Amino acid sequence: MTDTSCIFCKIIDGSIPCKKVFEDDKIIVFHDLHPKAPVHVLVVPKEHVESLAHLTPAHKDLIAHLTLKLKDIAQELHLKDGFRVGVNTGAGGGQEVFHLHYHLLGQPSA
Ligand code: 5GP
Ligand code: ZN
Repeated sequence: MTDTSCIFCKIIDGSIPCKKVFEDDKIIVFHDLHPKAPVHVLVVPKEHVESLAHLTPAHKDLIAHLTLKLKDIAQELHLKDGFRVGVNTGAGGGQEVFHLHYHLLGQPSA
């Protein structure tokens, strides 16, 4: 389900461009427009879910899939020394785009 007013739904449907890192039928991963680390990507479910607080048990497989992909993406982006994952949730939690997304940040190593 898409939300026509949602910027990440527009990135998912291709009407807004992004620097894509990975995509499958359930998630898309792209570079953040305003990176806060040498590598800063957003890991985003294709289904429009407003925030972590809006997840239900029906999303169990989706979130398991997304969580397992985090380490694969980190490996592909050479974040060998470690990485940080954050999910801002709700206006009070610093969320600005109300389509669930996981920030993945780190410093690539050689
Ligand atoms: P939030 O504060 O909601 O957790 O994070 C939203 C993130 O989305 C911010 O880090 C912001 O830089 C990023 N962002 C907002 N609009 C766009 C966009 O159009 N394209 C990309 N690639 N990132 C965006
Ligand atoms: Zn959306």
